[in-house]
Amino acid sequence: MERADDELGGNACPAPACPALRVLAARHELRETGEVHHGDSTIAYTVTRSARRRKTVTITIEPGAGVRVAAPRRVPAAEIRALVVRRAGWILRRLGDGAAPMRPARQFLSGTSLPYLGRDVPIVVVPAAGRRVLIEFPQGQFVVCVPAALEGEERRLAVVRALERWYRARANDEIERRVQHWAPLVGAAPAAVLVRTQRQRWGSCSAKGVLRFNWRLVMAPPALIDYVVVHELAHLRVQSHAPAFWAEVARLLPDWKLLRRRLREIGPTLSF
Ligand SMILES: [Zn+2]
Repeated sequence: MERADDELGGNACPAPACPALRVLAARHELRETGEVHHGDSTIAYTVTRSARRRKTVTITIEPGAGVRVAAPRRVPAAEIRALVVRRAGWILRRLGDGAAPMRPARQFLSGTSLPYLGRDVPIVVVPAAGRRVLIEFPQGQFVVCVPAALEGEERRLAVVRALERWYRARANDEIERRVQHWAPLVGAAPAAVLVRTQRQRWGSCSAKGVLRFNWRLVMAPPALIDYVVVHELAHLRVQSHAPAFWAEVARLLPDWKLLRRRLREIGPTLSF
């Protein structure tokens, strides 16, 4: 668990609180949520207010619990939000852009499913004789062949490695195909297209025109893959997120705002 403390002045202007809320605050703790956008990422946080806490606002990041802010009862929500904005870089480094699992590790059992091209693809586990985990994909389901000798965390990691290989290969094909389709429409040609593990983002565009994409993108619905591809291709024409950049994205994807919001919403679920 990581934490960052910020001391706030003692003269924070309290927002008028309704009497019922005050009673609740005295007995328990008040909960509220907020959201902050930073670059192409969204940080969702939960605020826990405590009557016991005097001055310190503390941000903690816990696997499975997300971003939590503990604050004194009277600190205005805007001040808490400003703190999350100031700490956004630090929070995202630890969250891995929400792409990192923020829930208990998947166990990859029959009856569970994995996201692929926006669909929940069921998993069927079958015992295998060999030494390696093999992934097959007949008729829209994952058949995961697992050597019987593998157990517990060793089994889980072997399945993760095999699935990641499978997803990376699909991501390479899928993203390459979409870059080929969109590049002439954007009117820009990337120097190279690479599919990588990117902790912080779905895609990036270097000054030399190299586009990098997160392989987990292949878990998303095709329309969202297109959004990220067009976004990065548009950076070949406009490096910044200036209005001219968004105009270029809108020319090809008029509903880009909807797609961006959807990606922010489901992004955290697109992982093992
Ligand atoms: Zn961008």
